[in-house]
Amino acid sequence: MTIAVLRLGHRPARDKRVTTHVALTARAFGADAVLVSTKDAGLERGLRSVTAKFGGPFEVRTGVPWREVVRTWKGAIVHLTMYGEPMEDVLPRIPTDADLLIVVGAEKVPRAVFDLATFNVSVGNQPHSEVAALAVFLDRLLQGAGLRRAFRGRLRVVPSKRGKNVETFES
Ligand code: SAM
Repeated sequence: MTIAVLRLGHRPARDKRVTTHVALTARAFGADAVLVSTKDAGLERGLRSVTAKFGGPFEVRTGVPWREVVRTWKGAIVHLTMYGEPMEDVLPRIPTDADLLIVVGAEKVPRAVFDLATFNVSVGNQPHSEVAALAVFLDRLLQGAGLRRAFRGRLRVVPSKRGKNVETFES
């Protein structure tokens, strides 16, 4: 199953940090790609640099026509929203043999997204954050396997009790 995260409503000046965190969380918790509805070359550069250093594969595309992506997506679409059905009820119904698109918003999400999504899914029914919702959803979906995924980059963190231990590999 390929998992892509679609970030809607990114405003480069305002949302750079949160959208970067959405993308880093997507990568670290098991997604294969992030698609951002607004073009942002700086965001792409930053994320590609992280992937070059810490490993991939992880695809980053900005300026994607989100309506077309959603309409032509072959597989299930999960829209994360505090108004949706509880995550625990939806998880068993998500097909595991097809690609999955996970949609997260920034500000107000267009009504069409609620209509076009296969599942509107809430991670609790309180307002919080797209980063938190994405992390918890991916972790429950993949039952921790996303976090355990091996990345092959120039740098590899060696877990240690204290301090920072990082191995460097020649490319
Ligand atoms: N007020 C906005 C709206 O009505 O769509 C939501 C803004 S919220 C800061 C940004 C994004 O975080 C949402 O679009 C949604 O993807 C995610 N989010 C926030 N709380 C959530 C929750 N309880 N469950 C699932 N997703 C949530």
